[in-house]
Amino acid sequence: MTSPTGEVYRIDWLPGTDVLHGTCHCGAEHTAEDPVAMWEWMLGHPEGHLPEGHRS
Ligand SMILES: [Zn+2]
Repeated sequence: MTSPTGEVYRIDWLPGTDVLHGTCHCGAEHTAEDPVAMWEWMLGHPEGHLPEGHRS
């Protein structure tokens, strides 16, 4: 899934579950059961989604 703005987000359903798995254009990954929560996480970039290994 590529948005018209050129920012790349991927959101997939995990098969057999209600869980969404999202990958941000920054490479951070996130899972959520609520699509709204997922989009808030995406749009809240970069808050809460630093790639692993980049803890502040
Ligand atoms: Zn991000």
